[in-house]
Amino acid sequence: MNILFLGAPGCGKGTQSKILIERYGIPQISTGDLLREEMGSKSDLGAKIKDIMAKGEFVDDELVLSLVSKKIESEECKKGFILDGFPRNLTQAKSLDVLLSRISKSIDYVMLIDVPDEVLIERCTGRLLCDTCDYIGNKDRGENVGDPCPVAEGTLYQRDDDKEDTVRNRLKVFKEQTSPIIDFYQDKGILQRLVGGNDPKLLSNKIIEILDK
Ligand code: AMP
Repeated sequence: MNILFLGAPGCGKGTQSKILIERYGIPQISTGDLLREEMGSKSDLGAKIKDIMAKGEFVDDELVLSLVSKKIESEECKKGFILDGFPRNLTQAKSLDVLLSRISKSIDYVMLIDVPDEVLIERCTGRLLCDTCDYIGNKDRGENVGDPCPVAEGTLYQRDDDKEDTVRNRLKVFKEQTSPIIDFYQDKGILQRLVGGNDPKLLSNKIIEILDK
């Protein structure tokens, strides 16, 4: 089962991916996470990535594609995978097709999660991450940067690119560069349009219904 999540920053791609990992036992490939890992390694490349991400722009297609292909071709993706945050433009979508056909695979479902802009901005700017586990906190629940994580021994922090100006730019870049791939997958007949609300469980039930059909 090869699944692809499509949607603007903060639409819930990561949260839904994590629910599907548990249910279907297939790994998530998040290019954002892979890039943040590279950033954490303090290499020259990491510093370049940090700079691009801080502006809310896209990292070089070739670099992202090489990270994704390494994962997709690995043993852990034999039974399937969940792509989160890739492809983000038409060049990447077409390169993904080439990569997959070379290894006799294809995308089975493209899940497009639609959420209004103002909700996305509120979600991203309020979002807090744990530096140790997958916990996602929220300033609206009274949590703050530096608080201890309620589930692991970590500390909550805010992603640099979740600051409001950067979030607005990420949304602009999404509309300009990522939106065209919606038609690309619509034409292939594998696109599912979903409306994301405030309840991740409701959305995941809908997704699971589609996948289990
Ligand atoms: P995300 O965690 O998916 O929101 O991604 C965070 C940032 O990583 C994005 O704003 C981009 O700067 C970069 N990034 C993630 N995925 C890609 C991609 N497929 N192509 C280019 N840049 C990406």
